Amino acid sequence: MSSSSNPTSSAYKKAVEKLGLKPNIARALELPDRELTVEVPFRKDNGELESVIGFRVQHNNTRGPFKGGIRYHQHVDIDEVRSLATLMTWKTSLLDIPYGGGKGGIGVDPTKFSKTELERMSRRFFRAIDPVIGVNVDIPAPDVNTNAQVMSWFMDEYSQIHGYSPAIVTGKPLELGGSEGREAATGKGTAVITRETSEKWGIDLKNCKVVIQGFGNVGSYAAKFLHEYGCKIIAVSDVSGGLFDPDGLDIPSLFDHNYQNRTIDGFDQGKKITNEELLALECDFLIPAALGSAINDSNVDSLKCKVIVEAANGPVTGDAANKLWERKIAIIPDILTNAGGVTVSYFEWVQNLQQFKWTEDEVNKKLEEKMVNAFDEVYTIKKEKSVPMRIASFMVAIDRVHSAYHLREG
Ligand code: GLU
Repeated sequence: MSSSSNPTSSAYKKAVEKLGLKPNIARALELPDRELTVEVPFRKDNGELESVIGFRVQHNNTRGPFKGGIRYHQHVDIDEVRSLATLMTWKTSLLDIPYGGGKGGIGVDPTKFSKTELERMSRRFFRAIDPVIGVNVDIPAPDVNTNAQVMSWFMDEYSQIHGYSPAIVTGKPLELGGSEGREAATGKGTAVITRETSEKWGIDLKNCKVVIQGFGNVGSYAAKFLHEYGCKIIAVSDVSGGLFDPDGLDIPSLFDHNYQNRTIDGFDQGKKITNEELLALECDFLIPAALGSAINDSNVDSLKCKVIVEAANGPVTGDAANKLWERKIAIIPDILTNAGGVTVSYFEWVQNLQQFKWTEDEVNKKLEEKMVNAFDEVYTIKKEKSVPMRIASFMVAIDRVHSAYHLREG
């Protein structure tokens, strides 16, 4: 990824400039602490040996243990994992939770393997990164194409070596020490941030038009909660394509359909549209909740939304973000919007360490409070310094890491 197309590095540069950080400090905070690449050999169901490459990048642990998910995707490489690990440092800092940032991944298309093959691959990967992780060192979690089942295998593998250790990963099933509210947390946080944005941007939440790209864990729960707030979700999409209804889709039924079938395909409401058509729809909020760089040079000019709420990690490239700023289309950045997931991961870890369980209401109340506080903090800086929300978010996050770094380094 070039630095102009990488949203993290261009926002980082602008934010450190605004904060007036010295170049040597800016460099120290930008460089990852450690990068591990591992070979992951595993046996396929037919007895053949398969080898894939896995990564764990630990970006910064000044404010607490490294924290971040592990994704399985054919596009995963060291550059992507590094950039996502860096985002996690700013995300945990922005939400003021006591973690640093890390990320992991395996460059593999998981749809090509059976469940038993994925289990053997997952266990082997976790064993390979065992020397660098730990309950107070580095705590992985789910990300693209990994879920509570994969976390169970990770937790079991680690516990076989080190003894029962639920706090080694978050995003676990409830039966194994997972937290109430974790599965819905990223989507819920996205909905809360959209609600706060609507207030500041003078958009009436009731009946405002929302378009969501991606209907996985994040997109589907964001749709569910925004629908409950009274928003009209006029279009959604997944890898099978998009669905559009100008009067608003029946989200509760679509949510159930997707939960059962793992796709929106086959749902009997809405006109079928392409991904490009979906991005070009006129709406109040466009929520990209799929993969990185979804909004880029090739499609940015077609956008007709008022605000982009970045539910995925890095869905708007740096160049596209500059064009949107000129057109006065606001971007509410990923490190704020999708921070609900890692926030409830933190709550899960705290419950595991205390061997105690909170109710769903307690979790949701604390999540809501964290998200609203972070939003207000960013909005205040945006107004004070006349900068976009993305730069304001990075300024708050970098400043907090920098203060801790300064105290520790002397
Ligand atoms: N993968 C999620 C993210 O990008 C969650 C990470 C976590 O819970 O540690 O924020």
